[in-house]
Amino acid sequence: MLSLSAKIQDAFNEPACENNRSKDAEARKKGCSKPPTPGAAAGGCAFDGAKVVLQPITDVAHLVHAPLACEGNSWDNRGTASSGPMLWRTSFTTDLTELDVVMGHSERKLFKAIREINEAYAPPAIFVYATCVTALIGDDIEAVCKRAAEKFGLPVVPIDAPGFVGSKNLGNKLAGEALLDHVIGTVEPDDAGPRDINILGEFNLSGEFWLVRPLLDKLGIRVRACIPGDARYLDIATAHRARAAMMVCSTALINLARKMEERWDIPFFEGSFYGVTDTSEALRQIVELVVKKGAEPELISRTEALIAAEEAKAWRRLEAYRPRLQGKRVLLNTGGVKSWSIVHALTELGMEIVGTSIKKSTVDDRERIKQILKNENHMYETMTPRELYSSLAEQNADIMLSGGRTQFIALKAKMPWLDINQERHHAYAGYEGMVELARQIDLAIHNPIWEQVREPAPWEEPLAGQERSGEESASILNLSGKTARHVGEC
Ligand code: SF4
Repeated sequence: MLSLSAKIQDAFNEPACENNRSKDAEARKKGCSKPPTPGAAAGGCAFDGAKVVLQPITDVAHLVHAPLACEGNSWDNRGTASSGPMLWRTSFTTDLTELDVVMGHSERKLFKAIREINEAYAPPAIFVYATCVTALIGDDIEAVCKRAAEKFGLPVVPIDAPGFVGSKNLGNKLAGEALLDHVIGTVEPDDAGPRDINILGEFNLSGEFWLVRPLLDKLGIRVRACIPGDARYLDIATAHRARAAMMVCSTALINLARKMEERWDIPFFEGSFYGVTDTSEALRQIVELVVKKGAEPELISRTEALIAAEEAKAWRRLEAYRPRLQGKRVLLNTGGVKSWSIVHALTELGMEIVGTSIKKSTVDDRERIKQILKNENHMYETMTPRELYSSLAEQNADIMLSGGRTQFIALKAKMPWLDINQERHHAYAGYEGMVELARQIDLAIHNPIWEQVREPAPWEEPLAGQERSGEESASILNLSGKTARHVGEC
C-alpha cells in the first residue's frame, strides 16, 4: 500500500485527468490547487473532500478523529438522500481536547469510540477519518483501525486525508483511494450478472438518482454500486464484479474509475443524466458497454425503444414550459461539475446562455461548452460578486442559476434565482428531472414577487412636482434598464 505522500503524488499524476494531460511533468507535480485569493474563502480541506465523497454511504458509521470542529465543519454539506439507513447522518467524533493531545490519550480514545459505536449501532463498517490535529501528533490511525477490526470483527477503514495535505478535490481522490485499498473487492458477490454496472461520482442529490434507476431497472440493468449516492457498504465491497461503469463526476473520482478498469477490467465512460439528450446518450453508452462485455445484443433495441418512449413523454410535458422559457436569458454560475450538460439541457429548453462559469470544468468539459455555445465570450473562469452583479444587468439576464453562496447577488439585483448546486431541493436528473428543472425555472422567472420588488418603494416615489433625474432613478433601482423590461414582462 502506498504512503500518503506517494498517494498524493499519484493523484497529481492521474493520467486519466484531462487537466493533467495538458500539463508538463513539472507542472503536474505541483497539483491543481492555486493559492487562495486574498480575502476569499479557501474552500474545503482534504478531509472535507474525503467526507463529501464517503459520507453518502448510508449504513456506515463515519467517525471523525479530531477536535469537535472538524466534524462540525464537514457534516452533511450536500443534499444527498438515503432510501434506507440513516446512520450516516449521525455525527461521530472522538472530540479530542488539549488534555488528550498533551497526555497522549488520543489513540486510546479512538479505539474506545470504535468499540462504543460497534456496541451501540453494530454497523457493517466504520470509517475513521484522520484530520490535521491527529495527523500532526502522529496518531497511527491505520494501526488502531487494524487492531479494532480484529478485535470487533468488522471492517474499520482508515481514511487518510488530513485537511492540511491539500484541497477538497484532492480529498475526493484520496477517498477513492481508501475505497480501493480497503473496501472494493473485499467481498465476493454470489449474484454477479452480465448486466451489472457501477455509477461513479453520483451523489444522489435530492434523491435525483432515483429518477434514473427505474430506467435502468426497465432494461434489466442492475446498479451493483452507486458510489457514493445512497450506497451500502456491501454494494461497494462487491463493486469489482460490475461489467461496466459510468463516471458522472470525473473531477472527484476519475482515479477510482481508471484504477477499477486496470484492476478488474471494468470499462467506463463519462456521461451525464442532465437533459433529455444527455440522459438518452448515457443510457446508450451504458448498454453499449455491457453488451460488449457479454450482455445479450437485443438490449440495444430495447434501449432504443425505451429512449423513444421516454423522450416522447418528456417533450410532451416540456411543451407546457417551452413557450414560457423560449429566449429567456440565463447566467449560469455553477461549481463546474457537469456545467456542459446543464448548458446543453437549458438550450434544449430554448433558453439563451449569456454566461457560464468554467472554473472547475475539465479541458474536455470546456471544449463541449464551446461547441454548444459557439461563443467563447460567454465562458468565464471566475467572477467576483461585484462582477456577477453587474453582469446580470449588462447581459440582460432573466435568471441566475447558481449555488447558495451567490444567491444574494441575484436577489440584490432583484433577479430570479434557482439553486442548482449540491444543496438544491429539487431533483433534476433524467427525463423527469428535466421536466422538474423547466418547472422550477418557470416558477422562478414568472413569480409575481418580482413585479412588486422592482417597483420603487413608496418613499422613493417623487413628490408631485419633484421629478427625479435619470441618474437618481438609476441609482435607486441600480439595474434600471433591466428592471423596466422585467416589470413590463411580469
Ligand atoms: S481537517 Fe484540518 S483543515 Fe480540515 S476542518 Fe479539520 S482542522 Fe480544519
